[in-house]
Amino acid sequence: MLAELKGLNEECGVFGVWGHEQAAQMTYYALQSLQHRGQEGAGIAATDGENLSFSKGEGLVTEVFNQEMLSELKGHGAIGHVRYATAGGGGYENVQPLVFRSQSGTLTLAHNGNLVNANQLKHQLERQGSILQTTSDTEVLAHLIKRSGYASLEERVKNALTMLKGAYAFVIMTETELMVALDPHGLRPLTLAKVGDGYAVASETCAFDIIGAEVIRSVEPGELLIINDEGIRSERFSYATNRAICSMEYIYFSRPDSDIDGINIHSARKRLGKQLANEFPIEADVVTGVPDSSISAAIGYAEEASIPYEMGLIKNRYIGRTFIQPSQELREQGVKMKLSPVRGVVEGKRVVMVDDSIVRGTTSRRIVKMLKEAGATEVHVVISSPPIKNPCFYGIDTSSHEELIASKNSVEEIRQQIGADSLSFLSVEGLVKAVGRDDEGENRGHCLACFTGKYPTEIYPDTLHPYEKELAH
Ligand code: SF4
Repeated sequence: MLAELKGLNEECGVFGVWGHEQAAQMTYYALQSLQHRGQEGAGIAATDGENLSFSKGEGLVTEVFNQEMLSELKGHGAIGHVRYATAGGGGYENVQPLVFRSQSGTLTLAHNGNLVNANQLKHQLERQGSILQTTSDTEVLAHLIKRSGYASLEERVKNALTMLKGAYAFVIMTETELMVALDPHGLRPLTLAKVGDGYAVASETCAFDIIGAEVIRSVEPGELLIINDEGIRSERFSYATNRAICSMEYIYFSRPDSDIDGINIHSARKRLGKQLANEFPIEADVVTGVPDSSISAAIGYAEEASIPYEMGLIKNRYIGRTFIQPSQELREQGVKMKLSPVRGVVEGKRVVMVDDSIVRGTTSRRIVKMLKEAGATEVHVVISSPPIKNPCFYGIDTSSHEELIASKNSVEEIRQQIGADSLSFLSVEGLVKAVGRDDEGENRGHCLACFTGKYPTEIYPDTLHPYEKELAH
């Protein structure tokens, strides 16, 4: 689906590499593969063992960097980041990696996720005299590391990480080493790979294919990896771990060619579609998916239901990025510009339209109308996720119940509002079964909070949207 129109936005992708002479170039290509995770800013920091340099800017990776800039980022270690600006807002100063120079050396950090206790920590740091230069959560970790009383950097990093609550995948680099940390719930994906004689880590495995890296394993919840010229070491900063990977990574965010914990995203989405066909068999002539992220699920539905899969909707790839649009009217116009129905496919047909999620409902209503105007006799909407009833506090931009159509309306009410002939959502049990993680196994659980309201971490009052705070009183 179209991320910027749907109202579900990922917040960032991270990458790090150590032990490769062209670390910055490698990071540049990896960030291009992670571009879908954030389009508002990109940055790369590199080290040659003595000097650490960085470059960053607002926009797409290809807009921010040119060959000259990359050639100035010298060294065998690098970290990079693509940013979608929600927590902390936009602006150059919030583009990562953030770089902190002091007499003891340079520390540079990049982060994917969202800290639920960021405001508490910021207030605490300010009371202790820290001056925060950005509004980003990432800076909080830098100050906690600096303020920690331990002698070695490794101990200071571990100590600082134990104070964070929420979702985070960090890459941290000094002149001489790369550190990688994943929160104790492993809410965001992070994978380790081998590249030549060195190592790389990335939010998604699609970043490895382009640079010829071989996946080793997922970074574990509560793990701190230390990578330097001596090799790689695995340490723990938390043993109280309980994996709760974001289910929306499988449903919607990650690229179909990525794997999370050995499960391919395209294959998982196909299984979601098959599960939907079993839960909701529909008599229809064609199945179509909303491009791009719903196509795999639509193929799965069609296969299982023995109904032909057709390309009933086309995405116009030559329209530039649609910037965050303030009004519903403009959002709907954006959908009209980006998606077109294929009249020859849908005219006179009963259509099953597979989509991955419904957030506000405006986009679904527009697409159903579009298919009916193109001659579809019936439009049955099947959604390859359960209804999103609760906001996410872990880095996905659904800020309040107020914005979520499923938090206030029954399935029948939503069906009426989007104008579909029928509407079906995948069950939570069906989702877990189809993704195929073994829930009996250690650290193989899901976060399902946006469907169930059961958050894997505590939620602090000032994490809440103003509307949520009202509800809490
Ligand atoms: S609440 Fe939903 S979107 Fe947020 S991390 Fe959990 S599953 Fe993902």
